[in-house]
Amino acid sequence: MKNLLGGKGANLAEMSSIGIPVPPGFTITTEVCTEYNNLGKDEVIRLLKEEVYTAIEDIEGQMGTRFGDSENPLLLSVRSGARVSMPGMMDTVLNLGLNDETVLGLAQKTGNERFAWDSYRRFIQMYGGVVMGLKARNKDDIDPFEELIENLKEKRDIKLDTDFSIQDLQDLVFDFKAAVKKHCGLELPTDPRDQLWGAILAVFNSWNGDRARYYRKLHGYPADWGTAVNVQAMVYGNMGTDSGTGVCFTRDAGTGENAFNGEYLLNAQGEDVVAGVRTPQQITKMGSERWARLAQVPEAERAASYPSLEESMPSIYKELYGYQEKLENHYRDMQDMEFTIQQGKLWILQTRNGKRTGAAMVKIAIDLWQEGLIDEKETLGRIDPHKLDELLHPIFDPKALKKAEVIAQGLPASPGAATGQIVFFADEADKFKNTILVRIETSPEDLEGMHLARGILTARGGMTSHAAVVARGMGKCCISGAGALKINYKARSLHVDGKEYHEGDWISLNGSTGNILEGKVATREPELSGEFAELMGLADKYARLKVRSNADTPHDARIARNFGAQGIGLTRTEHMFFEVDRIKAMREMILADTIKGRKQALAKLLPMQRSDFEGIFRVMAGLPVTIRLLDPPLHEFVPQQLTTQKELADDLHISLDAVKTKVAELHEFNPMMGHRGCRLGNTYPEITEMQTTAILEAALNLKKEGISITPEIMVPLVGLVSEFEEQEKIIRNTARKVFDKRKDQVPYMVGTMIEVPRAALTAEHIAERAEFFSFGTNDLTQMTFGYSRDDAGKFLKVYLEKGLLKEDPFEVLDQEGVGQLVMMGTEKGRKVKPDLKVGICGEHGGEPTSIDFCHRAGLNYVSCSPFRVPIARVAAAQAALLAKDEKTG
Ligand code: PEP
Ligand code: MG
Repeated sequence: MKNLLGGKGANLAEMSSIGIPVPPGFTITTEVCTEYNNLGKDEVIRLLKEEVYTAIEDIEGQMGTRFGDSENPLLLSVRSGARVSMPGMMDTVLNLGLNDETVLGLAQKTGNERFAWDSYRRFIQMYGGVVMGLKARNKDDIDPFEELIENLKEKRDIKLDTDFSIQDLQDLVFDFKAAVKKHCGLELPTDPRDQLWGAILAVFNSWNGDRARYYRKLHGYPADWGTAVNVQAMVYGNMGTDSGTGVCFTRDAGTGENAFNGEYLLNAQGEDVVAGVRTPQQITKMGSERWARLAQVPEAERAASYPSLEESMPSIYKELYGYQEKLENHYRDMQDMEFTIQQGKLWILQTRNGKRTGAAMVKIAIDLWQEGLIDEKETLGRIDPHKLDELLHPIFDPKALKKAEVIAQGLPASPGAATGQIVFFADEADKFKNTILVRIETSPEDLEGMHLARGILTARGGMTSHAAVVARGMGKCCISGAGALKINYKARSLHVDGKEYHEGDWISLNGSTGNILEGKVATREPELSGEFAELMGLADKYARLKVRSNADTPHDARIARNFGAQGIGLTRTEHMFFEVDRIKAMREMILADTIKGRKQALAKLLPMQRSDFEGIFRVMAGLPVTIRLLDPPLHEFVPQQLTTQKELADDLHISLDAVKTKVAELHEFNPMMGHRGCRLGNTYPEITEMQTTAILEAALNLKKEGISITPEIMVPLVGLVSEFEEQEKIIRNTARKVFDKRKDQVPYMVGTMIEVPRAALTAEHIAERAEFFSFGTNDLTQMTFGYSRDDAGKFLKVYLEKGLLKEDPFEVLDQEGVGQLVMMGTEKGRKVKPDLKVGICGEHGGEPTSIDFCHRAGLNYVSCSPFRVPIARVAAAQAALLAKDEKTG
């Protein structure tokens, strides 16, 4: 139903069927949006006309009003609604049906002339902006309608919109209409039917607007989904103090706590709550008291000026509380609801599964499972593995936090820690490496910048402001409504409490408390909740794929094990050589002219490698560890700069010219395809000998400590079976020597990476010798596409923008092409060795859609960076559940 009616439309239909009071209306399906794009405006209107007018008659019947009637007018809202929620990305028109005559009818009917004219000026403002395109053009420009409002306020010497007199509102209507005529060259349509078609088509057009297109790209939603259009009778929250409007959540979207919460405003329309112009009040008394503590509002003032809905309208609150319970139980998920109270009558305008932080996602899913609302499989299905990332990233170091000076406080809109340099404009969010975007308030235009910034800080707006909602969706730290901040865009400065901060100054945000801190505050690793552990337990119960980690040091291995890695899938031994004392010996080895010289230098490296391996083996005791032999081209280890070349010459007591000559000899035109991988070990066998010795001696040493380990020695960049055989021979001969010398032995395996297409194509021959396969999909992608890993950045961006590629193939496995090689390599290998252990250790091993593919390809494990291990565990479980569903379903 959602695909056709859009999320909002489907929910409205469903809500009314379970007895929730929803204003009557109808939905134009997403298919029509696609038709509109194909057939054009006139044809679509012709096709829809009759049905739309009949539906309007139906609404008229239910509301007892008439569309366009000068005495008893029906007014409509026209809203977008894609199949997934895209907050603020598309357009809405409210109060549709007002003109110079119907406004009088509305005034008379409600006995509230002020309200009628206020609705009318709001309508022109929205219609003029959304349908006729009269809005701010540049970032420094003010919205033309807002400019007229500000001018009038100045003239009348008033501060708030609510201070306008009826005459003022009438003047504004006049001025607004004149502005439309002047700038658009057209009159604002007065016939409600013309207004309706204008709005419907504007909603369709907004599907292809910049904001929506960017949002779709960010989330990978296809353009052919289209948006539905929801047309509904208007209900009003601005009909006096017995009216109001609000947004509420059945659970806390920041922490996941099972606490009903939200914000409302009396005598206001929906956008007033999220626009951040007035300070919204809390729905529950508990929430209100908490807000007052954070905003430092004394209790007496809170109760008098900012009471909760629970206090100000107890019976409405009770009714709302009942609906939120009913809706959460119905949808079996946390709901984000919008409501309006029109002269004492409560209407629910919409409900949807609420956006939430990663922490809230985990807590809510586990809580719902423990409350018996969803089962284990559904619990896992509720997790977006990408979002777990937020939980795994640094928080402020408590000691640094204690010392940090709090400059001001705002609302803890989206938890986490962020530190960065101030920028004031969204399109400058990449001006520094780490930025904090500081705005009076944000708007959907700021989306891209919000994505780039480390954190977001706004002076206005509540917990449901645009900034707060979007930041939570992105898992980005955000503080909103920090009213003490005085922001000057022109001067690019921020004043607070007598201090001034400028663009480029460092500040830090604590999105969990709302504290804004001076300077750069150190961060540290997060601690994981009990719910997180529960989730991981569930994931492991259903996953078939094992999850290993890529780790090059004992420290990384420890992090990986703490995150539940079931082994190491790749240790890149070369990373150990880059440390200061080692690089010298490495360079000595590379510069040596004789085997003897090379062996001498390798002998210096041996104990260092051995002790690293011991460290990793100790951390991973009892689990498999794959260690790869040296892979990168040797030129990466030699200095390119003259000064360091000179130092090296002095160190080794050789001439600078000798160093220069060697560096020049190592130069390659295409090093990624050059002298690297097993080509190194086959031309310099002593490197393989040293590394094998270090690995096996480390394992023997641990055996003495009572720790058993079966090292998996992995040969990189194999393309020919003979290349592998040559390396294997060296490894096995060396092993024999080590075991003889130590009079002891350990089990070990010798396997290969499959990262050259030829290896995948001839896997049946390679599997005759290799004891395991590990797909190196970084190189396999590079060589299958012919895109250099080092240079692809230059054109991939353009390819992605132009849609030539849907995704970066170095991030998301190209299942169609590279995937075939993975499938083929696995099948061919297993034909020869049915039990062949096959894994993947390229970057794709931590990416959920690629993990799903690996499951279907029958791999035994995926291996990814330590921080992605939990993501991969959940993705592996989801892949297993999906595959089962497909089989049975
Ligand atoms: C790979 O190529 O996928 C791989 C894991 O090796 P590296 O990234 O070290 O080349
Ligand atoms: Mg590789």
